[in-house]
Amino acid sequence: MEHWNVFTQTSRIAYFSMEIGLAQEIPTYSGGLGVLAGDTIKSAADLNIPLVAVTLASRKGYFAQSLDADGAQHEAPVEWDISARMKQLPARVTVPIEGRSVTVAAWLYRNQSPAGGVVPVLFLDTALEENTEEDQTITDRLYGGDQRYRLKQEVVLGVGGVRILQALGFNIFQYHMNEGHAALLTLELLNQTRNVHAGSWMNTLDVDRKAVAQRCVFTTHTPVPAGHDRFNYSLVQEVIGDEIVPVEQLRQLGGDAELNMTTLALQLSRFVNGVAKKHGEVSRKMFPGYEIHAITNGIHPLTWASAYMVSLFNRHISGWALQPELLVRVDSISDEDLWDAHQGAKAYLAQYIKEVTGEQLFLDVFTIGFARRVATYKRNDLIFHDLERLLAIGKGRLQLVFAGKAHPHDNDGKALIQNVYTAAERLHGEITVIYLPNYSIDVAKYLIPGVDVWLNNPTRPLEASGTSGMKAALNGVPNFSVLDGWWIEGHIEDITGWSIGEKTSIDASLEEANAADADDMYAKLEDKILPLYYEDRPGWIRVMKNAIGKNAYYFNTHVMMRRYVTEAYLQR
Ligand SMILES: *Cc1c(COP(=O)(O)O)cnc(C)c1O
Repeated sequence: MEHWNVFTQTSRIAYFSMEIGLAQEIPTYSGGLGVLAGDTIKSAADLNIPLVAVTLASRKGYFAQSLDADGAQHEAPVEWDISARMKQLPARVTVPIEGRSVTVAAWLYRNQSPAGGVVPVLFLDTALEENTEEDQTITDRLYGGDQRYRLKQEVVLGVGGVRILQALGFNIFQYHMNEGHAALLTLELLNQTRNVHAGSWMNTLDVDRKAVAQRCVFTTHTPVPAGHDRFNYSLVQEVIGDEIVPVEQLRQLGGDAELNMTTLALQLSRFVNGVAKKHGEVSRKMFPGYEIHAITNGIHPLTWASAYMVSLFNRHISGWALQPELLVRVDSISDEDLWDAHQGAKAYLAQYIKEVTGEQLFLDVFTIGFARRVATYKRNDLIFHDLERLLAIGKGRLQLVFAGKAHPHDNDGKALIQNVYTAAERLHGEITVIYLPNYSIDVAKYLIPGVDVWLNNPTRPLEASGTSGMKAALNGVPNFSVLDGWWIEGHIEDITGWSIGEKTSIDASLEEANAADADDMYAKLEDKILPLYYEDRPGWIRVMKNAIGKNAYYFNTHVMMRRYVTEAYLQR
């Protein structure tokens, strides 16, 4: 292996993310945010964009999910051996936590593109002899523990990340915060800027703030105020103290009442963006006074195309993986070849289901897929709103495959999983409902390409982007989704897939909105989707092709990264 300092010769963008999902074997992610970070890194490597990524080691992962016979969720730590996947670098830095100096090390993972580019990824770790037993666990559990634990993690990520990049000799020209978790990095940059000026905080705070902002880019991902990280200042005082930026000055940057990581990142970034056009609009309303752009998320094509699609595309659309825009040429593939590839992926999923749950997925029965984090706003059980109606439409003609984890503290989310189990029991023998446990990158790779339509029905406008639908489109699986997030940009009715409900959020109670959306979902399944699938196969395959040629060619991380380069990183 070449020495790590081959990476320090070029000036780089430092991409900070609390979670990164590169592969099943590196379980340092919980969901869409982490998988997006992983796909970003892979596209940067493919495109030779000089990036270095920084995240936490998360030695116990997020959690492994198992489900009881009635759908009750159980959580266990994920055991994985970081030393089998990457090398620990010799550099050590310290960060101030509760008055102690906590030592931070970094593991180096090389993300290698088949095209030759490499992006180094640093996994920060406090499990070192120099640290107290408790401090050794700071980088164990992703999104685990209480507020204090989270704040400590964010000190390690933000402050530790900047310091270790410098200790390793990296020359960073832009810091990119993927969500607010990493916003403390701005405080360390501010601290260093002030040291250069040697001025007092009072006189230079605004000048220094602008100087730091010149080096920072911030992507916000959450359209609900409650989703943003906030810490009260007494906790901040206890954990960080006045060591980096005095709390009095911090109040001017991160909000007066409490430290809001989004506010901090907004104040200290010269470029801010949401992750879809609609999410940009929602964010501008949520944070008036800031210029907030929109760069729509994507997915990494070679990671998310099934083996069947990779082989099909390789035969017909040479070069597609590095230049996914070429997927616009999908019409050069015959209907038969596309259908065979799709049925191959479906059979592969059926085999996986058989192994994991013992259940049978029928290859000639229309199959709806639904997998994502389980959270109230995602309404994971909405399709079961009216079981009688669902039976009338789908008896013997419909199968459903679900997956998804609820956050360990989210009891409402856990109840949603049990609702799916209850419905499955009621529908038994008439509509097959399968729940695959432990949703992860590998489960997604089996599940998404193997279903016939991809369902998404969040409460509008709470889905910032959504990326699993893009993975579906790439595999010729059309989307059937509420008009929110990326689907507002990707949807053309009956051409690329189908919408659910009205375009604008309904001015009604949640119950009424749920009923209206469920009603529209049933009507479209009955009137359009099932008849097209069963009675007009060429018409169905046309929509599959459009999903590839009109959605996947554009909604990918290659296009997204080219936009970040030209609209964010290189703009002055
Ligand atoms: C793509 C992906 C997600 C994100 O799905 P959304 O539709 O954006 O909610 C979450 N988890 C895993 C494992 C994924 O692969």
